[in-house]
Order: sequence, then C-alpha cells, then structure tokens
Amino acid sequence: MDVLIAIDGPSGAGKGTVARTIAAHLHFKHVDTGAMYRAVAWRARQLGVDLADAAAVAEVAERAVFGLSAHIEIDGHDVTAAIRTTEMDAAAATVARHAEVRRVLVGRQRAIGQQGGVVMEGRDIGTVVFPEADVKVYLDASTEERARRRAMDPAHAAGQAGAMPDHVVQIAQALEARDLSDRTRTASPLTLAADAVYIDTTGMPIHAVVSQVMDLIRPRLLP
Ligand code: C5P
Repeated sequence: MDVLIAIDGPSGAGKGTVARTIAAHLHFKHVDTGAMYRAVAWRARQLGVDLADAAAVAEVAERAVFGLSAHIEIDGHDVTAAIRTTEMDAAAATVARHAEVRRVLVGRQRAIGQQGGVVMEGRDIGTVVFPEADVKVYLDASTEERARRRAMDPAHAAGQAGAMPDHVVQIAQALEARDLSDRTRTASPLTLAADAVYIDTTGMPIHAVVSQVMDLIRPRLLP
C-alpha cells in the first residue's frame, strides 16, 4: 500500500491523536516528525551542542539513530517523556528554524515515507516533505482550545509539574510564541498547502475529526 497521508497544523490541534488513530485503523505506520525535531534538540543538549549552532545540530540529526514507534528513541536513549516538556517545546522550535537541520530531517522523513502506508504528521509534510501526498489535511483549533487540550494531555503534563487547567493561560501564551516561531521562520514556515483540506477542530470531539479524515482517505484506498 503506497498511500501517504499528510497531517499538518499548529501545536495542540489534535494531529497526534488523529494521526495515531487513523494509522491504527488502516494498519499504517504513524510518523510523528515533531518528535524527531524534539529528539534532536534533546540529544544536542545532552551532547553539550549549542542549539544556535545550525551546522553542529545538523550533524547530530545526520548521525542520529531514531526509534519512532510507541516509544521515541535517539541513539539508544528512550526520550518519550523527556521530549514533552515546556523546555523541549521551545528547544525543538529553535532547532527547527535551522534550514540545515530541516534538510537532514526532511531527507530522513522522505526515506521513511517513500514506501507508503504511512500517516505522517508535522508542520510541512503536505508542503515540503511530501507535496504529492495522497491526502493532505490541515488541522486547526482556537488557541484557547489548543491550550486546554495541551493542559489535559498526560504525555505533556508529565514534564510540567502542576500543568492543570488553571495554567491554561500560560500554556496558551507559550503555544502562541511557538506558533509565531513556526509561522514566521524562513525555512519551511507552517503554512496551509493549497490542496490541503482545512479542518477547524474547535469544539469537535476527536472521533468526529477522525471520521471526517477517514472520509477523505477512503476513496484513495480503492484500487
Ligand atoms: O509537533 P510538535 O509540537 O511535537 O513539534 C515540535 C516542534 O518541531 C514544532 O514547534 C516545530 O517547530 C517543529 N516541527 C517542524 N516541522 C515538523 C514538525 C515539527 O518544524 N514537520
């Protein structure tokens, strides 16, 4: 099955849950490209590499041995929980601004996706990594709703002591700062591909989003 599904959008729009659920339905591989940027930032930090040094971080990305299943691994370290902290949110956005780092990771993402049977989520999948993807979806939601979802996400809460709903305002501010960085960077900014289907998931239960995306995918699965 050489079908490739691209799911893009800002943080907290529900990409992860939707991509994971659809991949499970279709028995496709789920690839979280944000986790790759996060893992590279984590590894660079661990090695004492300056995150502002594009060439040095790109080298970390080039040499990295990734494990991208239910657990995220880099160079033998299980970083599943460690990469979901507020600090790593910012560190990932910093390394993702470097064109050299993006070149390396986009190459690796293309290698993973070329066989198809993949649901790949990120910021530039439908625009840069796989512009020829079979189905392109752009998930969005209001900042307030995205912050609320993030506050309730156990994967993120683990790294943020006391990340309860009363911290939603701070989370919203951090999300907006990261969105601004992702949207205004020179290298592959977050944008809506002309041929992507835009879904505003504000107020939508996850199963409704999944079923809307599945309706887009189904015709592509027919021989
Ligand atoms: O999706 P997630 O929030 O885990 O991504 C972390 C960061 O990685 C984003 O803020 C963004 O800067 C970067 N990223 C990217 N391109 C992708 C996926 C993530 O620039 N395809």
